[in-house]
Amino acid sequence: MRIGIIGAGLAGLSAGLDLARAGHQVVICEQGAETGGLAGTFPYGGTRLETFYHHAFTTDRETIQLIHELGLGDKLLWRETPMGIFQLGRVMKFASPWDLLRFTPLSFVNRLRFGLAVLYLSRVKQWQKYERVRVKDWIQRVFGQQAWDVIWGPLLHGKFGEYAAEIGMPWFYSRIHTRAGSREKGMTKESLGYLEGSFQVLHDALARAIGEAGGSVRCGEKVQALRISRGRLVGWKTSRRSERLDAVLATQAPPALLGILPAGLKGEYWERLRGVTYLGNICAVLTVKRSYSPIYWMNIPDVKSPFIAVIEHTNFIDKRTYGGRHTLYLSNYLPISHPRYRAADREVLREFYAYLAKVLPAFSAKDVTEARVFRTPHAQPVIRAGYSSSLVPHTSPVPGLYLANMAQIYPEDRGMSYSIRLGRRAAKRVQSYVPSAASNGRAAAKQAAGKKSSRAVAKPATVKIKIKLKK
Ligand SMILES: Cc1cc2nc3c(=O)[nH]c(=O)nc-3n(C[C@H](O)[C@H](O)[C@H](O)COP(=O)(O)OP(=O)(O)OC[C@H]3O[C@@H](n4cnc5c(N)ncnc54)[C@H](O)[C@@H]3O)c2cc1C
Repeated sequence: MRIGIIGAGLAGLSAGLDLARAGHQVVICEQGAETGGLAGTFPYGGTRLETFYHHAFTTDRETIQLIHELGLGDKLLWRETPMGIFQLGRVMKFASPWDLLRFTPLSFVNRLRFGLAVLYLSRVKQWQKYERVRVKDWIQRVFGQQAWDVIWGPLLHGKFGEYAAEIGMPWFYSRIHTRAGSREKGMTKESLGYLEGSFQVLHDALARAIGEAGGSVRCGEKVQALRISRGRLVGWKTSRRSERLDAVLATQAPPALLGILPAGLKGEYWERLRGVTYLGNICAVLTVKRSYSPIYWMNIPDVKSPFIAVIEHTNFIDKRTYGGRHTLYLSNYLPISHPRYRAADREVLREFYAYLAKVLPAFSAKDVTEARVFRTPHAQPVIRAGYSSSLVPHTSPVPGLYLANMAQIYPEDRGMSYSIRLGRRAAKRVQSYVPSAASNGRAAAKQAAGKKSSRAVAKPATVKIKIKLKK
């Protein structure tokens, strides 16, 4: 088959690799100038650095497997990473049970309750029982109101803004499990992974392997419209050409995908897709003259803060990697309708610096020698309680059109490993497609209207034949 893939992020590249190696003709179109999507990088200090901070967890099976599969295992670094929290006007370590016991913003009883609640949740085997439970209700009941007011409430607000109270427990359950999994038994610190040379090394290796298997990755080429004829997918129009294709795998966020599909698609599948809410992200990458603390990741549980975390990257990866540059990220999730998302970079930085000086009193804007501000409109899908009923399958009601986007990751929070898993799973669905059978008109048109279960779409359309038996 001739298969088009929209997006050269990790989902698109992983799917492209499997499809090209299976002998299909694969073309990946990426609107950005380079591969990598949200895990993309920019030239920095003689090497590359992620535009949005990235690390791997020890539980990231798919990332680790893919890295080894591509022969990059010797570049995978694991580092113990100190974590902290900004509370009562000071930075406090918040990584080990001992840090928790010393965490005076919570009463002693609530510190014990906190530890027991985390321990309990990390031992629960099935997330399904939490499907309809809201994080807010569970935390207030189990951790207690104080832990909600002091830590979890502001952090959830920082991550999900006005949607914080609607977030489902499976999301929180997965976060706790991922983090617990990144600590080996007896370890008080978390171990996080990074690729020597940045995660761009992985994107480049994927693109190279796709090329070697006969596929191509075309950056700087935006897919502007998908062509659907007689109810099935027949090709696409990009910023450079029109092409006939047997199938397309779309990896962009649903709001972006809907923009290149014909308007007025009806049916539950499309309604669910239209119902997905995303938050954007603004991320400042600062090169500063000095280090301010030994902490890599510092949470800022304050609803008034313009960022949710200060990530001192060079407390994770040595500053010598970047020619001695101390590097830190400030991250803010927000709806793209928020004035800050539209504000000029200098306004964003002014607001960030003012708050950063509160968190790190030694910080001064004069310390900043380089500053970059990156934005993305689709950084985080909002995972509400009962999200299972909003999930859309990879196989769409339009024969030949498949989806693999971050909103389909559940119950885990989005992450590189899950995007790789998503891409590889979707590639299997694409391979089960039989274009010639789907070209049968009426069945395809019916599927395009969303009247059939999307799972059925992957099968060849059936043709009813009436046979008159002679008496
Ligand atoms: C701030 C932030 C921090 C993160 N930190 C971590 C972390 O520490 N660890 C971790 O594991 N994960 C992290 N993630 C998540 C991780 O980046 C994502 O899960 C993963 O990179 C998503 O890959 P993807 O391929 O699913 O989507 P994307 O990376 O979004 O790829 C989709 C691609 O499609 C392209 N595209 C869209 N529309 C079109 C079109 N019409 N034509 C052509 N191309 C198009 C886009 O340009 C994009 O490149 C973070 C994400 C963010 C936002």
